[in-house]
Amino acid sequence: METVRFLLCFLMMSTLSVEKLHRESILCDLHCDTLLRIGKNEDLKTARGHINLPKLKEGGVKCQVFACLVDPKCKNYLKSTLHLIDTFYNQLDKFNGEIQPAKKSGDIENIAKDGKIAAVLGIEGGHTVEGDLAILRTFHKLGIRLLTITWNNSNKIATSCWSKPDRGLLPFGKKVIREMNRLGIVIDVSHASKKTVLDIAKISAHPIVASHSCAYTLREHPRNLSDEEIIAIANTDGVIGINFSSKFLSNKKATVEAIVDHIDYIKKLVGTKHIALGSDFDGIKDPVSGVEDASKFPEITKRLVARGYNEEEIKSILGGNFIRVFNKVCK
Ligand SMILES: [Zn+2]
Repeated sequence: METVRFLLCFLMMSTLSVEKLHRESILCDLHCDTLLRIGKNEDLKTARGHINLPKLKEGGVKCQVFACLVDPKCKNYLKSTLHLIDTFYNQLDKFNGEIQPAKKSGDIENIAKDGKIAAVLGIEGGHTVEGDLAILRTFHKLGIRLLTITWNNSNKIATSCWSKPDRGLLPFGKKVIREMNRLGIVIDVSHASKKTVLDIAKISAHPIVASHSCAYTLREHPRNLSDEEIIAIANTDGVIGINFSSKFLSNKKATVEAIVDHIDYIKKLVGTKHIALGSDFDGIKDPVSGVEDASKFPEITKRLVARGYNEEEIKSILGGNFIRVFNKVCK
């Protein structure tokens, strides 16, 4: 009887401490496509996808990167991007007691300290820059703090992971990287080709991120990163945000354990300082079972504790590592 009581007590204590650890962390999600859902019938509170404000709060998310994704087949990239930027600010105005924009070093921690969610505005796909540095500079003035260099299409900046031959970073791309370094925009290499990732890692003066990608060695998929790419990103002091899509994590329907398998793998390769989370919620159709939406982030913390990760490692994976990069880049 005493043993049973002791075990129950131990289980309750460990559940409480996991919960406490999760709540104390500044959890950052490096990628979602939720802005594409927001329209006439859905706002940030009522959105019926993976992410909305109640789900972010339940999941303990303190910082969310919102991507503006513009279909490369659409006619006017700039106009479509401006509409998504307008949606972002309309939503933040509407719910400004709950969510606020993070634009410079220290903002994420300060907004989180106030009990609000920090929102980082990003663009997914350098085609929106339309080969013009003036547009890039204007995006920065509009609050863009992260740019995913390519989406699934190649553009004037660089080659995507789906294109052959792999020409890597193009001459205009070198100018873009230098300008992003100067302005203070986080360089995101998810969706980019191997040569693009290696070229950018070589010339960027700042840490770079792959906001929503997994390890190719565990799951051979063109969207995933080879060991060489992971090491190159880590060498810039950057981070890799693990994607929650089953198809990037495994060759079958994956569970939350697959997310932690990829974390374990990258830890062995480059250490915990270069790992983050990039759910890709509202952009993916097959989230792992166990983390079906943003309210389920604590499941990852539970598994990390179960696999022996210590408090410092968990806090850095959940958000500390991304905050380090954001604060260094976005001065
Ligand atoms: Zn994507």
